[in-house]
Amino acid sequence: MYNSNYFIDVILPVPLEKQFTYAITHAESEFLKVGMRVAVPFGKRKIYTALVLNIHQNAPDVYEAKDIHQILDEQPIVKEFQLKLWQWMANYYMCTLGDILRAALPSAFLLESETNIILNKDEEVDDLQLKDDEFLVYEALQHQSSLKIEDISNILDKKTVFPVIKRLLEKSVINVEEELYEKYKPKLIRYVKLNDTYNVQDALNELMETLSRAPKQRQIIMSLFVLKSTSKKPIKVSDLLEKSEATSTQIKALIDKEILEEYYLKTDRVSFEKDEILESKSLNSDQENTLNEIAESFENQNVTLLRGVTSSGKTEIYVKLIEAILKQEKQVLYLVPEIALTSQLVNRLSTYFGNQISVYHSRYSLNERVEVWHHVLNNSDKAKVILGARSSVFLPFNNLGLIIVDEEHEQSYKQFDPAPRYHARDTAIVLANLFKAKTLLGSATPSIESYYNAVKEKKYGFAELKTRYNDVLMPEIELVDIKDKQKRKRMQGHFSDRLIEEMTEALDNDNQIILFQNRRGFSPIIECNTCGHSPQCSNCDVSLTYHQYKNQLRCHYCGYAIAMPKNCEACGSSELDNKGFGTEQIEEEVRALFPKVKVARMDLDTTRGKYSYERIISSFEQHEVDVLVGTQMVTKGLDFRNVKLVGIMNADSLLNFPDFRAHERSFQLMLQVAGRAGRTDERGKVLIQTYNPYHKILQQVSTNDYLGMFYEQLDERYNYKYPPIYRLIKVTLRHRDYNKVNDGAEWMAKSFRQVFKQHVLGPEFPPISRIRNQYHKNILIKIPQNQSLSKTKEAILKIKNSFLSIKDFRPIKVILNVDNY
Ligand code: ADP
Ligand code: ZN
Ligand code: ZN
Repeated sequence: MYNSNYFIDVILPVPLEKQFTYAITHAESEFLKVGMRVAVPFGKRKIYTALVLNIHQNAPDVYEAKDIHQILDEQPIVKEFQLKLWQWMANYYMCTLGDILRAALPSAFLLESETNIILNKDEEVDDLQLKDDEFLVYEALQHQSSLKIEDISNILDKKTVFPVIKRLLEKSVINVEEELYEKYKPKLIRYVKLNDTYNVQDALNELMETLSRAPKQRQIIMSLFVLKSTSKKPIKVSDLLEKSEATSTQIKALIDKEILEEYYLKTDRVSFEKDEILESKSLNSDQENTLNEIAESFENQNVTLLRGVTSSGKTEIYVKLIEAILKQEKQVLYLVPEIALTSQLVNRLSTYFGNQISVYHSRYSLNERVEVWHHVLNNSDKAKVILGARSSVFLPFNNLGLIIVDEEHEQSYKQFDPAPRYHARDTAIVLANLFKAKTLLGSATPSIESYYNAVKEKKYGFAELKTRYNDVLMPEIELVDIKDKQKRKRMQGHFSDRLIEEMTEALDNDNQIILFQNRRGFSPIIECNTCGHSPQCSNCDVSLTYHQYKNQLRCHYCGYAIAMPKNCEACGSSELDNKGFGTEQIEEEVRALFPKVKVARMDLDTTRGKYSYERIISSFEQHEVDVLVGTQMVTKGLDFRNVKLVGIMNADSLLNFPDFRAHERSFQLMLQVAGRAGRTDERGKVLIQTYNPYHKILQQVSTNDYLGMFYEQLDERYNYKYPPIYRLIKVTLRHRDYNKVNDGAEWMAKSFRQVFKQHVLGPEFPPISRIRNQYHKNILIKIPQNQSLSKTKEAILKIKNSFLSIKDFRPIKVILNVDNY
């Protein structure tokens, strides 16, 4: 330990209740600033990256402060306001600052001794540009697929290697290995060029000669030349299609003959030229009025809710608001739910804001995330508008002027696991307040919470946009009673005669169709017709799902898979039957009903591969596909011009979900799906198949009766004491031993009841009580509006601490989820 009186408190990226204190030298104390990173030893022989929270001269009482390993930054990478926000999050969501640090910083910022360093395969490395120590690491990685910090330390024969690693990261030579996230897939645009062989004049002449007998193909090549002469840019297939008035098949023929060559480029990496930037659209009078309403409401409210039906032009209004903020030289955060972050949206905004827009996404590659972080930190022109998912509330903004939360009702704004279990919409409001900035919440079907806050409580301002742009009619929604259809033998598989009729008509008119089915897989559940047994996952309490493609049964919670058995494992009968149905089966049935039609499927299974999601979308956009069968994924943000018909295969599976928000969510989901139909001049049609056509929610969906839904749901929330009337905190106990979880949960629920009386529910096993060999048991605490939230949390933490001081209970994991969704 240095013989000095200088110390820092740091946040370590581990869930500790307190900050840790380290000793620094006087010189270091002069250099260090709050928000810089330091490498510190922690625990037995481990090194972590920690963030400086405090610089002071008070030695810790109970332990001797260790020295830091080294300083990693020259400037702070985290700002003071962020630390304020994080502190708020830690208090509100009952987690540690360490949990937040881990979620907030791109993992490349958080090197630790356990980090795996790998080669960045996407970059060409010029090894002459590397310093000696950098080269040694680079070379070692040619022989070994990954290295740990300690390995590098051995290779370089020195203790302090973080700076070398940092340099290599900055030069894109290496990457740190991440958990196997599904990567964000930027949209690929298809380009064409003449095959290189024809760069030689003779070859070209010969080609044109041969093509004189194929006038259409010749014309396509001529069009390509025209396009080439007018712009130096790569030529998109879509541009060539338009210019030459050819069909996709004709162009494909040229590609097959290797006369043309196709290639792909990522859109969000294509930078925008000044002359491509478009003026934003002028608003129509309804939109103009709504924009004024928003501006008025912002005069005395920090938050405003915009309810605008699908396709009313909410996005165009956002664009106007963003322009106004950019004029004031301020930044804008535009939040969208994870799955709505499509390249369609990125493209659309880029045409107005060009290179001033940056996209931030937890599934973006590490380097890209670090890049955006630095742009935001340095207030660079490239980061004036941040379009991002949930985790972008953690960015180091400079002078935020506005936050837009689009599709504010989406549940994916709440992080479920791991901690911090934060809600990005609610956090965004706190973040905006730190900058005295405004927040606009937008949705066609606002959450009950937000609508309640706006219209009943008047905590938020409110604005509305009731008509679709261009007076496009709302789609016509028809409910189809499949119980009745079955009785009268009017069903073929899962298709009612009505759905088949409407599909036939749409296809005859060359319109496209979306079919929505809530589940993926072929037919989720297999049941024995003789004894009723259904194969279960051996790790989780859940039936396995049949996947036809691999002829497998799989668990959707843990990934456990077995080959499809031929006989019932319980009684040996060979009569195994499909119960329920998934996207794969619907796809198959469409093929059987309409053999000539092109069908594609979009669900988690078909979008796993690299770029597969974007491929499906773009082939649907370009009308290479007539019918798209999909799960929730098809509901978000996509704007397909030619979709005339949307079929919801089975509404009951949504409505019957065991959750107090199931009805609200079904309403939102069905209207979102319906919103995909008829976005142009022709009126769209939506068919909802159900066993319960008189279900209130379905009636409300079919008449687009948001208010009816709202007031009815609000009544239920009053009666059953749920949000927004009561707040919820869910406490989950988790352990592999069933009895331990049971006993622990009883003890804890009893202690909670002494404090919160009748406002404690449970303990209860969730519908799926065992996941990855761990039993879960939940206790729900309801908090009335007049009860102090901070006192409630204090009491909960106190009980949690007494619980964990009991030896038997100590190994049980206790999870707190505030505003549980
Ligand atoms: P929402 O976000 O409410 O679903 P969008 O902003 O996507 O609606 O608008 C729906 C469609 O109408 C888009 O294709 C959009 O370009 C078009 N549109 C909306 N407002 C205008 C306008 N003022 N001028 C021209 N086109 C508009
Ligand atoms: Zn059986
Ligand atoms: Zn499982």
